Amino acid sequence: MTLPSDPRGLVATDSPHPRRPTLVVDPLISDRARAIDSSGIRRVFDLAATLENPINLSIGQPNFPVPEAIKRAAIEAIEHDRNGYTPTQGIAPLNAAIRQRLHDRAGWRIDDPSIATTVTSGTSGGLVLAVMVLLDPGDEIVVPDPYFVMYPSLGPLTGSRVVTCSTYPDFRMTAERIEPLLGPRTKAVLLNSPSNPCGVVLREAEIRDVVELCRDRGVLLISDEIYDEFVFDDALEHGVCPTPSRFGEDMLVLGGFGKTYACTGWRMGFAAGPAALIAEMNKLQQYTYVCAPTPAQYGVLASFGLSMRPQVEAFGRRRDLVLEALQPITTVARPGGAFYAFVEVPPHLGLSGTEFCEQAIANRVLVIPGRVFSHRDTHFRLSFAAAESDLREGLEILSRLLRG
Ligand code: PMP
Repeated sequence: MTLPSDPRGLVATDSPHPRRPTLVVDPLISDRARAIDSSGIRRVFDLAATLENPINLSIGQPNFPVPEAIKRAAIEAIEHDRNGYTPTQGIAPLNAAIRQRLHDRAGWRIDDPSIATTVTSGTSGGLVLAVMVLLDPGDEIVVPDPYFVMYPSLGPLTGSRVVTCSTYPDFRMTAERIEPLLGPRTKAVLLNSPSNPCGVVLREAEIRDVVELCRDRGVLLISDEIYDEFVFDDALEHGVCPTPSRFGEDMLVLGGFGKTYACTGWRMGFAAGPAALIAEMNKLQQYTYVCAPTPAQYGVLASFGLSMRPQVEAFGRRRDLVLEALQPITTVARPGGAFYAFVEVPPHLGLSGTEFCEQAIANRVLVIPGRVFSHRDTHFRLSFAAAESDLREGLEILSRLLRG
């Protein structure tokens, strides 16, 4: 047998199967994949794996169980043989419930065919479909800095340019900060309130200015609202999380079920906005994800009408613990929602965020360097989605280290 001498990489090696060629994968990898760097967060998790009994304040999901009614609905779907594909856009009752929610919260019209919803494989799934539909090579999308780790990868994924909007030091992505970044190639502005990694919730007046700016410039506002139910009492307005959707239907709202109901692994999200845009997203979904997981669609259908306020308020108390412990020592923007605080490493320590996190990890506390979420490395992200005893112990250790 002659082995192929294919320049794309099929070569013989001294593998235990000497007659079987081994594929050299490296030359096959696309520039797109190479341009995405996920090493920062991996390094933290690798370090963490070496720790015995770490106090883990790095987790991006809530630590309560999925509500019983939601579990039962998913289990019943499986048992009643609802395990096949659904329509690309998801089951009709789930789309109807999402639409009803947008109507109740933001006044979106129930029956107007010019707006539509679709069920996506996680909020990430909705975001990927949106950028694939919107961005051509050379186009631009404005995202906040600090950002959710996925946002910079949307550039390499589409060949577009991700323009970061620095929101230091208060982490508010205001129209004033966005405006100078808009150019002839800008197609979208991505807003994330409450934010990962800062937990900051914008006020309705700030959001209205962003909506108007985008509308004036003919740019699509994409609102990543995955934490919209995770909002503490002091950040609510009209009893709900402030959202751009109260100012119109000419935007793309991306929502998720994973954080609110602690079912991040179910991969459930939705998108809502102009029907012409959602139709293009459905076209891509049909040939990529196909549909969101069927039993999970039935599961989250049971979430409508369920209140998570007791759980969210418990997180609000943990937020207070974080602020009480750290605000006397350093600068922490007050999280109005989600379960993160973005904490400044006091400049007098002379440490980068990464160096501080190495110290914290050496003291058993796992937090993530700001550099993972930002062009800057002056902060760290602390997640308070942890048991209260762990949080208290972790805060004690961090306070000591932050005092220097
Ligand atoms: N957006 C933000 C701001 C997030 O923090 C996350 C998850 N950490 C996502 C989107 C992705 O969510 P999902 O798991 O639903 O894909």
